[in-house]
Amino acid sequence: MSSAPFIVGLTGGIGSGKTTVANLFAGKGIELVDADVVARDVVKPNTEGLNAIAAHFGNAVLNADGSLNRQALRGRVFSHENERLWLNNLLHPLIRKTMLEHVHNAKSDYVILVVPLLFENGLDSLVNTTLVVDISADLQKQRSAARDSTSQAEIQKIIDSQMSREQRLSKADHIIDNQGDVSSLSKQVNELHQHFLSLVQQR
Ligand code: ADP
Repeated sequence: MSSAPFIVGLTGGIGSGKTTVANLFAGKGIELVDADVVARDVVKPNTEGLNAIAAHFGNAVLNADGSLNRQALRGRVFSHENERLWLNNLLHPLIRKTMLEHVHNAKSDYVILVVPLLFENGLDSLVNTTLVVDISADLQKQRSAARDSTSQAEIQKIIDSQMSREQRLSKADHIIDNQGDVSSLSKQVNELHQHFLSLVQQR
C-alpha cells in the first residue's frame, strides 16, 4: 500500500449537499479538509497571508482588532484586475499548500477534500478521484434559499458563476444523486465508502 494519502475531491454547486455528504463520510471516521475553512485560516491575524496583504494594500484593509476587513479588500480589488491577480497569486498557492499539509497529517483510510470550485480552480489535479454531488438548479435554489435566507435571484447569480451542471458531471469520476431524501444519500455514501476503501486497498 502506498503511504501517500488517498484523496477524494468532493465538489458540487451551491446548495447541492456537499457539506451534508461530507458529514456523512466524517461519521464513518473519514477526515475532511474543507477549502473554505482553509481559505479563511490563511488570512487570520499573524499569518503570512494577512501580513502580505497588509504590506501590499496598507492597514486600511484591516479591522481595528487586526483581522482582515473583507469588505475593504473587496473594494481594493473590485474592477482592478491587476490587484485581483496579485491577491489570487498570493492566496491560491497558500491555500493549496495548507490543504495538502492537512491532508498529509490525516490518519483516516482516505481523506475527503471538500472544494466548491474543484474543477474551476484546477484543484482536481491534487486528488486521486473526484466525487460530484448532483441536483437540479431548481433544487439548488430551493435548498440554498431555505438554508441562507438568500434570494433565489442571488443564488441564480452564483449558479451562473459556477461550472454548468453538465460540465461538472462530465468531469466526475463518481456522482451522488442528491435529489432524493437523506436516507437515499446515506445509502449512496455507504456504497461509495466501501468502494473508496477497496481502491485504497488496491494501491
Ligand atoms: P452545500 O454544502 O453543497 O452548499 P449543503 O450540504 O449545505 O450544501 O445542503 C444545502 C441545504 O440542503 C442544507 O440546508 C441541507 O441541510 C439541505 N439538504 C441537503 N441534502 C438534502 C436532502 N437530500 N434532502 C433535503 N434537504 C437536503
